[in-house]
Amino acid sequence: MLSPHPSSGARIEPLFMERLYETCGAQPNNLALEFCGDRTTEVATYADLLSRTARTAVWLARQGVVTGDRVAVCLPKSLTGLQLHLAACGMGAVSMPLNPSYSSAELEYLLLDSEAKLLVGPEAPSWDETAAKLSPAVPATVTRIDPGNFAAELPETGMDLAGKRFPGDQTALILYTSGTTGSPKGACMTHASLTANMNMLGEAWGWRNDDVLLHVLPLFHVHGLLVAMHGALHAGAACIMCSKFDANVTRDELRKGECTVFMGVPTIYRRLLAATGSQDCDLRHMRLMTSGSDRLPVDAFEAISDRFGVRVVERYGMTETGIMTSNPLDGEQIPGQVGFPLPGVEMRVVDPNTGSSLPAGKVGEFQTRGEHVFAGYWRDAEKTKRSFAPGGWFRTGDLGIRDSSGRYEIKGRSSDLIISGGFNVYPSEVERAMAEHPRVAQCAVVGLPDPEWGEAVTAFVVTDGGHVTEALLRQHCRQRLAGYKTPKRVEFVDRLPRNAMGKVQKSRLRAACATKD
Ligand code: AMP
Repeated sequence: MLSPHPSSGARIEPLFMERLYETCGAQPNNLALEFCGDRTTEVATYADLLSRTARTAVWLARQGVVTGDRVAVCLPKSLTGLQLHLAACGMGAVSMPLNPSYSSAELEYLLLDSEAKLLVGPEAPSWDETAAKLSPAVPATVTRIDPGNFAAELPETGMDLAGKRFPGDQTALILYTSGTTGSPKGACMTHASLTANMNMLGEAWGWRNDDVLLHVLPLFHVHGLLVAMHGALHAGAACIMCSKFDANVTRDELRKGECTVFMGVPTIYRRLLAATGSQDCDLRHMRLMTSGSDRLPVDAFEAISDRFGVRVVERYGMTETGIMTSNPLDGEQIPGQVGFPLPGVEMRVVDPNTGSSLPAGKVGEFQTRGEHVFAGYWRDAEKTKRSFAPGGWFRTGDLGIRDSSGRYEIKGRSSDLIISGGFNVYPSEVERAMAEHPRVAQCAVVGLPDPEWGEAVTAFVVTDGGHVTEALLRQHCRQRLAGYKTPKRVEFVDRLPRNAMGKVQKSRLRAACATKD
């Protein structure tokens, strides 16, 4: 048993890869993916994608990967990275896509925790040091490939993935998330939860095989991978894949009129608005533009509507559940609300103290139940147990209300999670990195409202009396953490406010900054 907390175990037809095979069989010559890199463009039809995936599965098997093995893929956004993900899921191994900007310390923790069998990294000078710093304790075999030339390494004959059968509750994908207090945790998505997510999205957003998705999100996060990528492939749509988000490129691509679907986080929309300036940017040809991962402010929603002529569909999800709610595709979009539960998703609002369900209009914790929910945290039965309420309800940790029509609205988070540019930043991780600097005596990290990032990671530092600058501390963190986790701002203070139990009162730090700003 791979997952510590298996779901119902019910087999869902058809499973994740079977659906892809069906799509490929029905439209082998349709464009599946066009990856636009800095210098190169790679194109794959559905038949190409299938063949490459099946041959990549043989390649993985030759590296010693068998059912249940974790395959960590730490590559820039590429066709090769996607093939490895699909091949790992398809052959019954566990795909583990990782952020290519992780430092070796971050990578090492994840590889040790997951006991990944294989780590696939890029043959790039920028990665030499990362690979060299990994300790011998890491059990994974480190294999480095050239993503642009991987096809040449593949065998001619592929694995018969269509003939593979797995139980619905078998883990197919681990996405790492982290708690506010502890270390990152691996969220185990099963074949059944991936399939449920694809089916729900297809129904809610009316995905069609003549859709063209402009994909600008990373493929190592639930939003870009499950919601955008799987949703599109499930429908047999074409995907224009940008290696990273660039506001000008995105604006020009959307304006051409070929794309019909776009998914972003609020920071992306803000930058897109800035990139259009006062220029005319009519995007009314877009069938669907969605926003998620963070709150889309009402003024941004209105600005998008005015400038682009599109009412953005705001939706809500998380790593452990995939998608949960969405504003209706054809109904009224209410800015500031995340809409209704998707088909098959049970949601309720619960009093966090008593555990009882609350009526409409009362603020409580969102809890959810259904096939879309993950199986549990990788080898962490304790945390898994704490994350589920009696009756199999997953505690999201998000606080909000349901109105009398059944629409949900997020009010805040019960934890101190910071969402910066659509990415989760856990203060404890940043605090730990900061504390490694010899001049830092104490540190507390909070998210402060920021017009560009949604929330800006802000560190409050008490020094040991010695001299250190903001720039040096930021540089110190950047050497240990991905860029989006590195504090945007460092405030030097004489002491941190603490309660009687000695716990830092972060709300007071936030309030002090709000008054100061
Ligand atoms: P992640 O696991 O990285 O996808 O982060 C999930 C968290 O992002 C959720 O628990 C919410 O706190 C937040 N989130 C996702 N979508 C929205 C949204 N539309 N509005 C506000 N917060 C959101």
